Amino acid sequence: MIFSNLFNDEGSIYMEANRQVNGCSVGIFGVNYDHTTSYRPGARFGPNAIRNVSQSLETFCPELNRDLLDIQYCDLGTLNLDSIDSESVIKKVYKGSKFLLKNNLKPLIFGGEHSITTGIIKALIERYPNIILLQLDAHADLRNTYQGNRNSHACTMRRCIEILKDKTIFQLGIRSGTKEEFKEMNQKKQLIDFKCGDNNNLLKKTLEPYKYQPIYLTIDIDWFDPSLVSGTGTPEPGGFFWNDFNTVIKTLNFYNIVGADLVELSPNIDLSGISNIVAAKVARSLIMTLDKSDKKELI
Ligand code: MN
Ligand code: MN
Repeated sequence: MIFSNLFNDEGSIYMEANRQVNGCSVGIFGVNYDHTTSYRPGARFGPNAIRNVSQSLETFCPELNRDLLDIQYCDLGTLNLDSIDSESVIKKVYKGSKFLLKNNLKPLIFGGEHSITTGIIKALIERYPNIILLQLDAHADLRNTYQGNRNSHACTMRRCIEILKDKTIFQLGIRSGTKEEFKEMNQKKQLIDFKCGDNNNLLKKTLEPYKYQPIYLTIDIDWFDPSLVSGTGTPEPGGFFWNDFNTVIKTLNFYNIVGADLVELSPNIDLSGISNIVAAKVARSLIMTLDKSDKKELI
């Protein structure tokens, strides 16, 4: 296809995205992979579910007061995988992310399961050595190994920490994990104790010293409450709602977000299709936050 053999662009497309990179600020690709998913697989259908429902969304986002029609972004399609082995998938994700960076595109990757984040971070740290990682997730994902696999989606933050070494990591609103995971998050002060309905004061205060640093944002869709987003492999009660997401994204909009992913949407579990709509709207906000052409004061 157009982009050597990295991507397959024959499927559906996100909203009115371009298929070519010229003049674009944000580049999307999907990773149809869920092989290590521990409970209910199906995240490999996530990227195309987001694309399919995106056609029904408005291009204007009232919360961010921006319109996608004013932004040039591209959707390069599905990352071609030659094996379901997690190590080789992460390598391919690294290559795909490098391709975006080489073309001066801010990466926005649709998962797929959370383990793919490791490959994106590997690519991003080469471009942004002082990058900070911010995770929205129900789960800590800090295990060293899970079900015999170091690349399980339950280990993704552990692998990212190994890549980032002593760099800053923040985990926002985590509500599930082992005793050891919570001990570590609290000791290292990387857990931002954000609760449903909170304002943005705590998030602003935590991120204030990092105003000019590049930030990578990884969003596991199970951060949302299962009553809103049931279409995910490992749902956890006590989660967040759309207004909480807006509180977070309105704050992050003032920061230097250099890349993002949206993972763990498992569309076939939610027969209502609402999970897909939420994910597609999250993606719309992420494109706006990644694009730097029009930053307005919002708060
Ligand atoms: Mn999770
Ligand atoms: Mn996760």
